[in-house]
Amino acid sequence: HLSKRLTAVAQYVPQGARLADIGSDHAYLPASLIINHRINFAIAGEVAKGPFENEKKEIRQLGLEKVLIPRLADGLAAVTADDGIDTVTIAGMGGSLIAKILDEGQDRLSGVKKLILQPNVGENRVREWLMSHQYQIQNEQILEEDHHIYEIIVAEPTVCPVRYGEKELLFGPLLLEQTSAIFNAKWQAELKRCEKTVVQMRQAKTIPEDHLMTMQKKINLIKEVLPDDD
Ligand code: SAM
Repeated sequence: HLSKRLTAVAQYVPQGARLADIGSDHAYLPASLIINHRINFAIAGEVAKGPFENEKKEIRQLGLEKVLIPRLADGLAAVTADDGIDTVTIAGMGGSLIAKILDEGQDRLSGVKKLILQPNVGENRVREWLMSHQYQIQNEQILEEDHHIYEIIVAEPTVCPVRYGEKELLFGPLLLEQTSAIFNAKWQAELKRCEKTVVQMRQAKTIPEDHLMTMQKKINLIKEVLPDDD
């Protein structure tokens, strides 16, 4: 049984995909997709020994050894050309780590038609990487589970990606076109956090002026995007 977050990630995996789930931990996501006959081959990549043992145990218990392959490797090094991977999921880590994994594994992405990414924070870092590496964002989703708000970004390679500005990169070009209470709640909370940080920075006095400016700029962007509350 998958969490609401991973269920949402799973829905973007195409029927019959050959999937690499990077940072898979218990391999819940690929295991569920296989059990539900959505896919019949996946790699579960893990860089850390503990989670790697978790996925091996899970795969053995489910009897999926032939179709779900655990690999102890850093990022996309888990993928080889022979695997014929066409879809990659990377979920439950920070956006800068996701961008780093994609960046370092670019040579493994040549046959990949779809990236399904679920950063916990730093979503703008993921969008920046996608835009500057010829990917087009196809879908975005925001959801809440256990008082956490998560975003999912789905992208496909393209010859001519749309160029996004700062605002689209921060909030998500497709999320900006939807109206959602969860989106508003996320940015309301972020606005409060930024405003508090600015007050603290002013008090500290040692904070470089450009940090303050960046924060102020972000505050202005959030205010622009949030609906007026009066
Ligand atoms: N993907 C699962 C999910 O969304 O529920 C597990 C998320 S867990 C919080 C993040 C996992 O990513 C950890 O098990 C960690 O070991 C793994 N990880 C972190 N950096 C990695 C890397 N460079 N390559 C592969 N796995 C990595």
